[in-house]
Amino acid sequence: MTAIKEPSFRESVDLMFNRAASLMDLPPGLEEKIRVCNATYTVRFGVRLRGEIHTFTGYRSVHSEHMEPVKGGIRYALAVNQDEVEALAALMTYKCALVETPFGGSKGGLRIDPRQYEEHELEQITRRFAYELAKRDLINPSQNVPAPDMGTGEREMAWMADQYARMNTTDINARASVTGKPLNAGGISGRVEATGRGIQYALREFFRHPEDVQKAGLSGKLDGKRIIVQGLGNVGYHAAKFLSEEDGSRIVGIIEWDGALYNPDGIDVESVHQWIVKHGGVSNYPDATHSAEGAEVLEAECDILIPAALEGVINLTNAERIKAPLIIEAANGPVTAGADEILRKKGTVIIPDMYANAGGVTVSYFEWVKNLSHIRFGRMQRRQEEARHELIVSELERLDRYLGEAWSMSPNFKAKYLRGADELELVRSGLDDTMRIAYQSMREVWHSRDDVEDLRTAAYIVAIDRVAKSYRAKGL
Ligand code: GLU
Repeated sequence: MTAIKEPSFRESVDLMFNRAASLMDLPPGLEEKIRVCNATYTVRFGVRLRGEIHTFTGYRSVHSEHMEPVKGGIRYALAVNQDEVEALAALMTYKCALVETPFGGSKGGLRIDPRQYEEHELEQITRRFAYELAKRDLINPSQNVPAPDMGTGEREMAWMADQYARMNTTDINARASVTGKPLNAGGISGRVEATGRGIQYALREFFRHPEDVQKAGLSGKLDGKRIIVQGLGNVGYHAAKFLSEEDGSRIVGIIEWDGALYNPDGIDVESVHQWIVKHGGVSNYPDATHSAEGAEVLEAECDILIPAALEGVINLTNAERIKAPLIIEAANGPVTAGADEILRKKGTVIIPDMYANAGGVTVSYFEWVKNLSHIRFGRMQRRQEEARHELIVSELERLDRYLGEAWSMSPNFKAKYLRGADELELVRSGLDDTMRIAYQSMREVWHSRDDVEDLRTAAYIVAIDRVAKSYRAKGL
């Protein structure tokens, strides 16, 4: 038997794009224009560390500028390369279109193992990288707005935004040049947890549609569902934590770089997270069975599989053996095009990455708007809202006294009703609404067309159609 060659990540994204585009009625020129990556900038720069000059390679790829700024994270990992950055930038275009954040798609990466450097060294490297990008408007509040991705977080975003501000001292919107910043540097409440929260909202929405749940051969609600999560980083951790603590799901498997934990009775996500923070991995965690071959747990029995780490983990070598009837792609590109086809034939339902993990960029959008408006969400309305509620409550209290035994307010009603929404509540409400609406736009295509077999193709069709419309509006 000849070995089957898997396409690269970017080819995989293109194949999925082509599959959807072939079901649409786009002029061929426009289809090509949407598919291709507009530009990828490669930078090599030196930083003097520990008495020596170290050379680093970084990328920022802009996939589509049908809307500006373009948006997407910056990843720090040794595996970063041009093909990957371009695939991720393309996914950002479709993701933003699907969840209606008014951005084009972009992505960046730096080839580095961040664990090899001290904090002050990482700051030097990050600032230098940001300088190179900002100099070319590849960091800019109106043109290109980075955010966190694998290997980066609030700290790196604060350095990048500050670097931009130092280079553009009169730009009043400097803080809007980067999202995912800490709260004290212009960030927004709920951004760190946003992608994981989005996974939870996506699953809740999926389970609101019994017809869809049935397609996956499942029934009921999230309560009691057995979940396996691969990768307990920021996204996997928050998703697993919220689903187990708030929706009654059972996390039966956790896969990490040093093996997997399995416990059919459920694993306490918070305690595994604490264990990882302390020991660096999941090995020797006491309340679950540890197996060194983590990847095998991907194939274990469960109701929902959440790949929340790297791309390409479900591929031609293991797709056939994946038992989960429902996969939600918390990572970008965890299922290769070849594996997607195998799973589709098996009837596995996949909630695709461009929708599932869009919570991050959605809350990034809120942060960007907050930075441009220079005011915290809820600051103007909160007390006014409370005052109006107070009016109703005092009327109800009057009624309460008047009706005596016959009627009284429920015990916590007053406290709950009186509280005006703060920023975090508004962010959650905006995110929840976004995830519901985007799911509905996908499922509408999925159910209304006989030639659309799966949610991924439906998602691409919705996204490509929107991008095409905005190109047309530009006269292309
Ligand atoms: N890196 C995240 C993603 O892949 C977030 C992007 C953003 O917030 O701009 O969606």
